[in-house]
Amino acid sequence: ATRNPNEPEFLQAVKEVAETVIPFIEENKKYQNKMLLERMVEAERVVMFRVSWMDDAGNTKVNRGYRIQMNSAIGPYKGGIRFHPSVNLSILKFLAFEQTFKNSLTTLPMGGGKGGADFDPKGKSDNEIMKFCQAFMTELSKHIGDNTDVPAGDIGVGGREVGYMFGQYKRLRNEFTGVLTGKGISFGGSLIRPEATGYGDVYFAQSMLQTKGQSFEGKTVVVSGSGNVAQYAAEKATQLGGKVVTLSDSAGYIYDADGIDAEKLAYVMQLKNVDYARISEYTKKYPSAKYVAGKRPWEVKCDIALPCATQNELDGEEAKLLVANGCICVAEGANMPSTPEAVEVFQKAKILFAPGKASNAGGVATSGLEMSQNSLRLSWTSEEVDERLKRIMLDIHTSCVKYGSDGTGYVDYVKGANIAGFVKVADAMLAQGVV
Ligand code: NDP
Repeated sequence: ATRNPNEPEFLQAVKEVAETVIPFIEENKKYQNKMLLERMVEAERVVMFRVSWMDDAGNTKVNRGYRIQMNSAIGPYKGGIRFHPSVNLSILKFLAFEQTFKNSLTTLPMGGGKGGADFDPKGKSDNEIMKFCQAFMTELSKHIGDNTDVPAGDIGVGGREVGYMFGQYKRLRNEFTGVLTGKGISFGGSLIRPEATGYGDVYFAQSMLQTKGQSFEGKTVVVSGSGNVAQYAAEKATQLGGKVVTLSDSAGYIYDADGIDAEKLAYVMQLKNVDYARISEYTKKYPSAKYVAGKRPWEVKCDIALPCATQNELDGEEAKLLVANGCICVAEGANMPSTPEAVEVFQKAKILFAPGKASNAGGVATSGLEMSQNSLRLSWTSEEVDERLKRIMLDIHTSCVKYGSDGTGYVDYVKGANIAGFVKVADAMLAQGVV
């Protein structure tokens, strides 16, 4: 804590990993030397930079940009870019740290990284978004490359922003490479990448439910967020027979007791991805649904909860409410959406609980598949990518069960994911010496 003052999110993420990994290290002598864990919590490199740009009115604006290159033991740094006013060093270091373990779990050769800026895309014109992305990439381009560091999207960064950043990288470097993932299909993007995090989250939840002889069929599902991850988690949950009754944003949530079916979800996608509007607009088209301002959806009775908005969006009291209302499964689509108190409640109640680094790894895994396709200079079909995604999520589930089973039938997926992610990175770091 003294080395990382004012970094509560980073310390929270490290503590959660340390609590499960330290006992494992104590039982496994080979991981006890060379300051392994101490090296893992120290980023290999942090770049912070000024991003200055001009808005439509001709005013000069200044934001702060970041790239955290956390760990390259098993592959080039890999992780998303976040544009949100809350972005700071603590949040990006927590995300880059988590990313290292998550990428390891995917079985693909990707190290851990994360980046972003304290830029608020809300209310900006398309031209302003482009200007900002170009200014951001002008500096970032000096630090990334298809064999060095391959960023992707995250909160506030979707296909449009990745496209603008890719265009600027190409213009500056005069090379067409797979330096970013989440690209448009016409310039090297992978089919299923937009869907992958949400779909993967539901595939993971499905694997957990299967261990209890259960499925999505007929279950009521509460989803938070209404961005990329939430939309496709809702789509897949519905396709598997679940009834999704909520979506949210930072201002409140909508509750639709009849379920947000494919047609309603298409409207949400139009609202959020084309019009960049608020989720409250939903009730204008579907007046039987209700909008609850200033609250989160965890008070709604459900069987399955999929938190897909942001970190620390589900606290201990809300976790108690979910359990009391009969929720049997929580699979995190966002990164660290449950507070430590919430995780404790789920684990004490022994319900199925998957931490984001396992259950949302489908996004980065498919980014890894996009990198492979770019290297091969060919594109796989949707079916092929989806099949690989399913296989990877299944393998991650198996790894979690391997390291997280307590012998009585209960699986601690937090412990399982942390240890499985740790082992591969630790082995590579040991083999590469003290660097
Ligand atoms: P989007 O920007 O597409 O959507 C984010 C959603 O979360 C929006 O509905 C947004 O509402 C809401 N949100 C953001 N900040 C807050 C906040 N402080 N409080 C409440 N709600 C908030 O992002 P993604 O869907 O891509 O990302 C969602 C989560 O999933 C993040 O934790 C991200 O790190 C994680 N993730 C994403 C991956 C991906 O492939 N995209 C991969 C793995 C993890 P509003 O519009 O009001 O801000």
